[in-house]
Amino acid sequence: MSSSDSKLAVVADAASVPALRPPVAPASLAHRDLLGGEFWRRVPAYANVSEAEFLDHKWQAKHSITNIGKLLAALEGLVSEGFIADAQRGFERAPMSVRVSPYLLSLIDWTNPERDPLRLQFIPMGSRLLPDHPRLDLDSLHERADMPVPGLTHRYVDKALFLALDTCPVYCRFCTRSYAVGIDTEEVSKFQLKVNADRWQKTFDYIRSRPELEDIVISGGDAFQLRPEQITQIGETLLSIDHIRRMRYATKGPAVMPQKILTDDAWTDALTRVVEQGRKLHKEVVLHTHFNHPREITAITKAAMDKLCERGITVRNQSVLQRQVNDSVDTMTLLIRRLGYVNVHPYYIYMHDLVKGVEDLRTTLGTGLTIEQGVRGATAGFNTPTLVVDAPGGGGKRDAHSYEHYDRTTGVSVFTAPAVHPGEMYFYFDPIHLLPPEGQARWADPAEQQKMVEEARAAALAAPRTRA
Ligand code: SF4
Repeated sequence: MSSSDSKLAVVADAASVPALRPPVAPASLAHRDLLGGEFWRRVPAYANVSEAEFLDHKWQAKHSITNIGKLLAALEGLVSEGFIADAQRGFERAPMSVRVSPYLLSLIDWTNPERDPLRLQFIPMGSRLLPDHPRLDLDSLHERADMPVPGLTHRYVDKALFLALDTCPVYCRFCTRSYAVGIDTEEVSKFQLKVNADRWQKTFDYIRSRPELEDIVISGGDAFQLRPEQITQIGETLLSIDHIRRMRYATKGPAVMPQKILTDDAWTDALTRVVEQGRKLHKEVVLHTHFNHPREITAITKAAMDKLCERGITVRNQSVLQRQVNDSVDTMTLLIRRLGYVNVHPYYIYMHDLVKGVEDLRTTLGTGLTIEQGVRGATAGFNTPTLVVDAPGGGGKRDAHSYEHYDRTTGVSVFTAPAVHPGEMYFYFDPIHLLPPEGQARWADPAEQQKMVEEARAAALAAPRTRA
């Protein structure tokens, strides 16, 4: 058959194949509808703020809300006195510092702040607080137990986590590192992770001395808070170590203050230079970020991600599954499709760690598994996140489906981590208030609590799912 014959055959075949799918309804492309315009002017305090001011990262940092007085001033006339009183009780009892950027504040729906998924993550309210789970401990991932140098966690063979500093552009209620991040609160005195030349030098010396390390996460706190020369110092030092092959700067910045990428040229250029230097050395330097809800992605976010895309900087996302924030298939599907649309790879969804003071935000492993099942297939596999449990007690990230045992009545699930701590078992606990009455009654009795854990351990040993 000649090439013209084969072209004709292809055309004939295409004409005879019926369309498998009708064109989609425009509503199903909602992930492309990004909030634009001067949306911040809806908040009275920002009604006269120009676009140039709002895009200025220094203006954002300077006007961030850090106490109830500033919140009241920003929201004057927008919310009820009852809401402010409730927030005041939340500020007083929060284990985490509070810091909210004007950008975030203007994305909250102030006609219904009680239910708003962004407000829920950043502004505590006294009326939402629930008792902590009895098995909770402040450093639930036991990061400090695996620190050869203060602020460097070496748990996995080839990877280490460098907590370079203790501040962030915002503070999240659900932060796993509330044991160290932010200033002391009435509830918690923090473990010190300030920028310190001696601590950093010891960190670099340790990394240099361990040839098995190939991958370093630079976190904190948040890499957005590093000065440009600190981005450069960390990047150049780690790139100069032969066995380091991969680095990730971890920052929530793109989700809460994308303005910095657009207007802090020194910071963005410093990051770009490290990425380019890494590329010349055939090493990977990427940005890891943390979007949790589709409304956190706006036209400003897209402009910032476009700038990073133009510079060849890969961005990956890690979300935390939170009740009433993103605990539905529809919300999570919209989030991952929107992330893909702005060139951010959805990498992980974490089951919420057991963190002090935020039991209202956790949900059950069963809910996570249902959402994962519903989301998978909504977009390409490489843009579909893996649902993980960061096993309390230091087991590291486990695929949520890999539990050895899960009792939905007591809410106890059991995981193993053979490549991290062989022979150990790790336990994750659903929030008590979401358990059936029988499970809630058992947790109410202190004598039953350890029994439930032992029952789960015995069941996992008797009938392991993954080692059958
Ligand atoms: S930005 Fe990250 S480190 Fe900082 S408070 Fe939020 S979750 Fe914690």
